[in-house]
Amino acid sequence: MSTLSIAGLEAEVAGTAILRGIDLQVASGEVHAVMGPNGSGKSTLSHVLMGRPGYTVTGGSVHLDETDLLALEPWERANAGLFLALQYPTEVPGVALRDMLEESARAGGRDVAAVLERMQVEALRIGFDERFLDRPLNVDLSGGEKKRNETLQLAVLEPRIAILDELDSGLDVDALRAVSRRVEAATEESGLGVLAITHYTRLLEELRPDRVHILVKGRIVESGGPELAAELEETGYARFTEDEPKPASEAAADPFADPFA
Ligand code: ADP
Ligand code: MG
Repeated sequence: MSTLSIAGLEAEVAGTAILRGIDLQVASGEVHAVMGPNGSGKSTLSHVLMGRPGYTVTGGSVHLDETDLLALEPWERANAGLFLALQYPTEVPGVALRDMLEESARAGGRDVAAVLERMQVEALRIGFDERFLDRPLNVDLSGGEKKRNETLQLAVLEPRIAILDELDSGLDVDALRAVSRRVEAATEESGLGVLAITHYTRLLEELRPDRVHILVKGRIVESGGPELAAELEETGYARFTEDEPKPASEAAADPFADPFA
């Protein structure tokens, strides 16, 4: 049993405060959905949790059980049991997926010889072409293949807590079902705890959330059960984003302003 505990987390990027006090606890086997409009800080939260350079924590704490994650390098956080499926998976020419997962197993003191078979089993399970296992990581993969690739890594690495940053973006219906089912199964089979960042409720049809949190302008403005996601589907974010009207000059300078609004 593990718990990811985020308390009063504040962070800035390029001198601008983006996360403004986040409190969230994710325990083994639980699925928490974080939903919010564009630019609300969802990806920033995922990067700060994993320790991406350039993101400065200005307050609060993040623990995985007793471990202070903010004191660790990203690879040490991964070794402690934290996993991040990126919104935009990175292409890494020259490094095959298999090399990466075997090296991860070695670094974590796990059985390297068992990795290839685990990869093959998982590839079959989520419909990921086996050809990609020995090819450079993410290079020339379609959006949907990249997301299947992230899911395969998650399944083979067996983290304790996984952050999924828009795992559903760019996926067709079949891929969406395959990856969300696989993650849901991990919550049941190995007690994976999930922080699923998403815009849309469609990911949450297979990957059923225990709690739904609405992130607006770097703060969680409401938390509830799955019914909250259903409400968003009906009415959008308007109820959560309505502010007092601002002068146009100020609105233009607002780094959180949604360019599509
Ligand atoms: P979301 O994932 O919810 O759409 P992000 O976390 O990507 O939102 O972005 C939140 C805000 O932080 C946006 O206003 C964005 O422009 C800003 N931001 C994110 N990353 C950077 C960065 N590396 N440099 C400058 N601003 C950034
Ligand atoms: Mg994002």
